Amino acid sequence: MYDCIIIGAGIAGAVAARKLAEEKGKQVLVLERRNHIGGNCYDERDEHGILIHNYGPHIFHTGMEDVFAYLSRFTEWHLFGHEVAAKVADGLIPVPFNLNTLEMVYGEKAGQLGKKLADTYGEGSRVPIMKLRESGDPDIREIAQYVYENIFLQYTMKQWGQKPEEISPEVTGRVPVLISRDNRYFQDKYQGVPKDGFTAMFERMLAHERITVRCGVDCRESLAFREDGIWFEGQPFEGDVIYTGALDELFDCRFGRLPYRSLDFRFEHYDTESYQGRSVVNYTVSEDFTRITEFKFLTGQQDADGTTIVKEYPFAYSGAEGEIPYYAILNDENEALYERYRGLVKGLERFHLLGRLAEYRYYNIDAMVKKAFELTEQM
Ligand code: FAD
Ligand code: UDP
Repeated sequence: MYDCIIIGAGIAGAVAARKLAEEKGKQVLVLERRNHIGGNCYDERDEHGILIHNYGPHIFHTGMEDVFAYLSRFTEWHLFGHEVAAKVADGLIPVPFNLNTLEMVYGEKAGQLGKKLADTYGEGSRVPIMKLRESGDPDIREIAQYVYENIFLQYTMKQWGQKPEEISPEVTGRVPVLISRDNRYFQDKYQGVPKDGFTAMFERMLAHERITVRCGVDCRESLAFREDGIWFEGQPFEGDVIYTGALDELFDCRFGRLPYRSLDFRFEHYDTESYQGRSVVNYTVSEDFTRITEFKFLTGQQDADGTTIVKEYPFAYSGAEGEIPYYAILNDENEALYERYRGLVKGLERFHLLGRLAEYRYYNIDAMVKKAFELTEQM
């Protein structure tokens, strides 16, 4: 019946499904455990009619023309330059820390300090905080210390339960110090959200005569791994299987759980025009939550009555019912554990791991789309 089975209807699974059905003529079955498609990009209107992102705020951003063109087949866009401010000492300063932030913090001295930064690292460059801290110059070290203490230390402690120097530099490197006056959070050419939401984009992508989607189905009920290969619904399955879920779960966590950070999203609705007047404020020195997102300023929704916000409270994922593993914790020990699980499926030629969970990596949406292109082209 089916040539391919894809587990997970997030961006990785949805792009792979569409590619295989449309370009390779495959009959594709998508199994999704949740009762909806879209994975963590899923959005819907809340009880007040406001479009919210149920699994945290998602802004699509990319510099990859092929990725943007592909998704644009399934949606129009509400494009903007995404800006984030950090709440520091009762005021708001732009993040990433840039030459505008420098001026707000250092006043008159900023001109000379900015010149020093530009001379040292190059105008327009992106300097990771951990690199800035290594500088031998006392002025630069002072700026680095300010940024470390006011932008990174508390936020990272909340998000990861560890200090910036204890986590992978890849993670803090996502938000570098910018030697420019660009106030945007990302520097990609395209940034925004699908005009009528992510879920509508996924619906169009998965609407194809050779794609069948079954929601509310955990693949472990029907898929089994045996010495002689993969079995589906009690029969040997000869086709390709793409798995986008967590790899340890597929094997009942037999070597122990892969560690993840999770988030508790607390939504609040207010009958006022605006709560914070902008889409995202990071709480980098105070509060127990990391950031507040006010959705109408992200989605551009015009017909909203009142406003809905979400606060994000990080915690260590334990695998308990209802918890969601959001962030792989990248370090040597965890990657070695992941490799042990990967060893269990290495011999299965037609079994493919794709996605943020299945690959135990930190991917943005665009990188995921690109990986789905690459995998389906090889298949
Ligand atoms: P997912 O979206 O997690 O999809 C995997 C799917 O597989 C899920 O729907 C799951 O239910 C299903 N599944 C798992 N196990 C099974 C099973 N056993 N049987 C059946 N189905 C199963 N990226 C950006 O580019 N911009 C952003 O602004 C951004 N913000 C983010 C904010 C947060 C809080 C988080 C956590 C991530 C953010 N990301 C962002 C990253 C983005 O969410 C991911 O790149 C993307 O969702 C990964 O897609 P995926 O398909 O790999 O995984
Ligand atoms: N970060 C921080 N303060 C900020 C923004 C980010 O300390 O104001 C650190 C934090 O460790 C975070 C990492 O930089 O986990 C990456 O931030 P990003 O916004 O890329 O994380 P995302 O929410 O997209 O996963």
